Amino acid sequence: MKDFAYQRAASSEAAIHAGNARGAKFLAGGTNLVDLMKYRVESPAALVDINHLDLTQITPDQDGVRIGAMVRNSDLANHALIRQSYPLLSQALLSGASPQLRNMASTGGNLLQRTRCYYFTDVSFPACNKREPGSGCAAVKGYNRIHAILGQTDKGSTSGETCIATHPSDMCVAMAALDAKVEVEGAKGKRTISFADFHKLPGSTPWIETALHPGELIVGVTLPAAKYAKNSYYLKARDRNSYAFALISVAAGLELEGGNIKSAGLALGGVALKPWRMPEAEHVLVGKPATPENFARAADILLKDAKTYEHNAFKVEMARRGVVRALTLATQGAPEGANA
Ligand SMILES: Cc1cc2nc3c(=O)[nH]c(=O)nc-3n(C[C@H](O)[C@H](O)[C@H](O)COP(=O)(O)OP(=O)(O)OC[C@H]3O[C@@H](n4cnc5c(N)ncnc54)[C@H](O)[C@@H]3O)c2cc1C
Repeated sequence: MKDFAYQRAASSEAAIHAGNARGAKFLAGGTNLVDLMKYRVESPAALVDINHLDLTQITPDQDGVRIGAMVRNSDLANHALIRQSYPLLSQALLSGASPQLRNMASTGGNLLQRTRCYYFTDVSFPACNKREPGSGCAAVKGYNRIHAILGQTDKGSTSGETCIATHPSDMCVAMAALDAKVEVEGAKGKRTISFADFHKLPGSTPWIETALHPGELIVGVTLPAAKYAKNSYYLKARDRNSYAFALISVAAGLELEGGNIKSAGLALGGVALKPWRMPEAEHVLVGKPATPENFARAADILLKDAKTYEHNAFKVEMARRGVVRALTLATQGAPEGANA
């Protein structure tokens, strides 16, 4: 690990000021950043510790709920309001990592955790456009079992893939389906970013991963009024039943009226560099009976542009079946943390 300066911020203003310095990074739970520093993937000049900021509240309001950026994943998953009104989020969080990691991992840090692509996390591999812009993507012709099947190239692009990594978060897949918004604060003031715009697909700049400006601090996440409290399911397919990242995951929320679907929230994880959500896949369900045939139509829309590589073709069928299964299980209720 390279030497770095350390500073504990006493207020958001102080954190933003210190975070603006060249080479500075915010330190939350440290469960991702410190690992990457040890691997020499990240070498910040300074760490600005935000663990003592007053960003730990979960606050219900008329429109939904606001979650502070330093709310730990365990506290969020086990909060009574989240369990009752947003069980999809609780279930997704409890499917991630281990209890010890969830006790440290924060909401803001989970949003910004970096890909688990082997070629990114191991600096002995020379080609990684995320680490070294212009060096290439070793995964395209390498061992790409955990890699993306969607969103790797811009529509109409002839330049090929610059990065086929996936975003590893479970929490983010549920937040995408729940229409979350991210609140950020920086030297130029506050702004709110919709979840769909927060994470970036690789395009020609795979090293730009989010819509955050340099030095901006995530202060919270808001969720709109709960629609899927009664009928939702987070399905995670992985190599081990705990302590493993998703090969594919599905966050499914349904608002049912009689046997028909009034509205749906649907997102895939493990398939792209951001949670994969397509409004058309949700619209096709609205007004229709909640049947496996209709669920399969939504899956086909989500996966219509899938492109696979030597080792990950299985993900398309796995995701298709996962969507049908998650939506079917959502019609049966909303388990609290069944994957824990
Ligand atoms: C062994 C292992 C298994 C795991 N399994 C899973 C899993 O199955 N599913 C899953 O979803 N995750 C999993 N994780 C990842 C874990 O959830 C993340 O490491 C964690 O959520 C990151 O949060 P943190 O607070 O520790 O972030 P940190 O490591 O402190 O920070 C991560 C990044 O976010 C930035 N940052 C943090 N907070 C802010 C803020 N408020 N504003 C701006 N920037 C900020 C930091 O500068 C850094 O770049 C696993 C991790 C490990 C080590």
